Formats: sequence, C-alpha cells, structure tokens
Amino acid sequence: MGRIQLKDVTKSFGDVQVIPPLNLTIEDGEFTVFVGPSGCGKSTLLRLIAGLEDITSGVIEINGEDATDVVPARRGLAMVFQSYALYPHMSVRKNIAFPLRMAKMGQDEIDKRVTAAAEVLNLTDYLDRRPGQLSGGQRQRVAIGRAIVREPAAFLFDEPLSNLDAALRVGMRMEISELHKKLDTTMIYVTHDQVEAMTMADKIVVLQAGNIEQVGSPLELYQRPRNTFVAGFIGSPK
Ligand code: ADP
Ligand code: MG
Repeated sequence: MGRIQLKDVTKSFGDVQVIPPLNLTIEDGEFTVFVGPSGCGKSTLLRLIAGLEDITSGVIEINGEDATDVVPARRGLAMVFQSYALYPHMSVRKNIAFPLRMAKMGQDEIDKRVTAAAEVLNLTDYLDRRPGQLSGGQRQRVAIGRAIVREPAAFLFDEPLSNLDAALRVGMRMEISELHKKLDTTMIYVTHDQVEAMTMADKIVVLQAGNIEQVGSPLELYQRPRNTFVAGFIGSPK
C-alpha cells in the first residue's frame, strides 16, 4: 500500500515560504509526476514526503498514518537518486545490497532480493562489475535497484534522467514505465520536462512557485488546461 496525502502542508526556509498551503492525494499504485519550472518547489515537496526536510505546518499521511514523527528510513518510501550517487569502489551487487546491509538484514534474504532486482532490471550479468564499467543507462538501473530491494510502498524519483543523453533518456523513460507496470507500486516522479510528464504519468501535478496550478491526467491537462501557464507549459494549443 502506498497512499500519500498532503493536508495544508507548508514549507518555509527562514522567512521565505516556498510551499504555500498545499493539498494533494496520491493514490496507491498511481504514477504521479510533479512538473514545473526550475525552482518551483518540486524537489522540496519530494524531500518533505521522504522526510528529508521537516514540514513547517500541516500534515503528511502515509497510508492514513501521520508521518510527522516518522524518520525517513521508517516511512517505507525509497528515493531514487541520480546514478552518480553510486559508490564507485563497490560492485553492482554491493551497491544494490547497500541499504539492506545498513538495515542489518540477513545475508540469505539480501542475496534473494538482489538477485530478484537484478532480474527485473536486466542486470544479472553485471553484478560483479563496478559502476565505472557500466553504461549510463545501466548505472541508472543500479540506482533503481537499490530502491527496489527495500520493497518500498512508494518510489520517489527526483529528475533521475537529467544527466543522461537524449537518446538514453527516451529508453529509460520506457523502462521506468515498464517497471511501474511490473511492480504495481506508487511512484512519484519529479521532472521539469513536459515530455516526460506527458508520456509517463497517470496523474500530473503542475507546480508554479510552490502552488498547484492543476492536477489531472495528461489528456485532461492537454485538452482542458485551467490557465495559460498550464497551457503554455504542457504545450496545448490554447
Ligand atoms: P525545484 O526542484 O522545482 O527546482 P526546489 O524545491 O529545489 O525547486 O526549490 C524551491 C525553492 O526553495 C527555490 O526558491 C529554492 O531556492 C528554495 N530552497 C530549496 N532548498 C532550500 C534550502 N535548503 N534553503 C533555502 N532555500 C531553499
Ligand atoms: Mg529540483
């Protein structure tokens, strides 16, 4: 289960409020994309959900439970960082196993989960390599593998493809969409790229200066943008 609710959530850094009161429900199993220009608060919102930043006011509920006092490791969510966050001196196997080792999981269970994740991600033949011996796409898959082994209730992606070249990005987009179908788990995906949002999302949340401008399916936003900002950003004819 991965249902996430934000109720009147605000975030300020010092005197600057970057997220005004915000309400949003992410349903279990949904692929939700937060999209908007640089600096609009996408990463902040994701970090609030992950618990990497404290909210200033309001409530975040994960599966109906108030998450305020729940530390990131216990929220059941896995943040996928860009592939450059891999440990270069460790094998792929050790990189993927890393969060489980930190959680002091038994070796048999670790091996089982790493093997299963490697199969899902087509990394079985690469487990003994180091990240430096992999392509950009494979490295990104290792970063995703590190999230999968934790069997999270939801995956949180923050612009995971932004340091890949254009051709690779298209392939990885499809891979992540496939992964969502296979795992049937809630995914929140942050991007400033309209094309990624339109092609990957069940639900798009369009943000501007911390405000939700519109929430809807790609088709709804395209056909019925609520204002000129959404229309311009999504690229609809209006
Ligand atoms: P995005 O991910 O959409 O580019 P961010 O969430 O990173 O946007 O940033 C939203 C706003 O919050 C920006 O104005 C940014 O400068 C500000 N901000 C983000 N993190 C901090 C921080 N730790 N301290 C102060 N201001 C921050
Ligand atoms: Mg960001």
